[in-house]
Amino acid sequence: MRVRLLRSALAESAPEQQYLTTFLVNDTVAIDAGSLGISATLEEQRRITDVFISHSHMDHLASLPTFLENVYTQGDDCPSLHVSDAVRAALQEHIFNDRIWPDFIGLSEKIPPFLKLKTLRERQAVEIGKLSITPVSVNHSVPTFGFILEEAGKSVVIISDSGPTEEIWKQGKARLQAVFLEASFPESLAELAHCARHLTPKLLAAELKKIGRGVRILAIHLKSAFHSRLVRELDALGIPGLEVALPGKEYEF
Ligand SMILES: [Zn+2]
Ligand SMILES: [Zn+2]
Repeated sequence: MRVRLLRSALAESAPEQQYLTTFLVNDTVAIDAGSLGISATLEEQRRITDVFISHSHMDHLASLPTFLENVYTQGDDCPSLHVSDAVRAALQEHIFNDRIWPDFIGLSEKIPPFLKLKTLRERQAVEIGKLSITPVSVNHSVPTFGFILEEAGKSVVIISDSGPTEEIWKQGKARLQAVFLEASFPESLAELAHCARHLTPKLLAAELKKIGRGVRILAIHLKSAFHSRLVRELDALGIPGLEVALPGKEYEF
């Protein structure tokens, strides 16, 4: 399984910064669409068959309308969009509302479709070829799914965004190779992390204890205003296998 966190910053000078969230899995599946429609090349965007949205926050779906427009061919091969009922309602009300953007959901029922809407349900795996993706609710300020990715006997968990959580660790433990886990705020902003349901480096470390064994940890979603401080605080934890995920780099598991 190959996983790449897309770059958000188009400027060469700041490849490590992550303003927006999109993961590409095996070149054909996208998890979130924060940067999908602006950072992936058009060729890369056209290869995407399935897009999974974790939650309705802007950094996770900012370029979804752009992506859907970029890959529109008026054919039956439009991408499938996998969302919870909550995300679907938010998209319909706040984005595809004929004010912010044309109603791609409604239009897809009348003219050659922009998207095929599929409903994500708690702990119900979606199979795409040999890849299986299971959504599990995590602890964020709006309804949010983390995802368990499984292929060829290996499993990778992607959690962005969440405060301290439980269920996904129980579900995702077996055959776990790696975890992409958020570390949004430094310790000095622990109060804000608590209110916004995000993690600090120490809270990330507490989550890792729930796995009960060492796996590869790739820290993501480091807020850019505190990036260097977060890197220092993550380093200071001294946790084997913990690194900050580099946007643009492909990780193989
Ligand atoms: Zn969020
Ligand atoms: Zn976020």
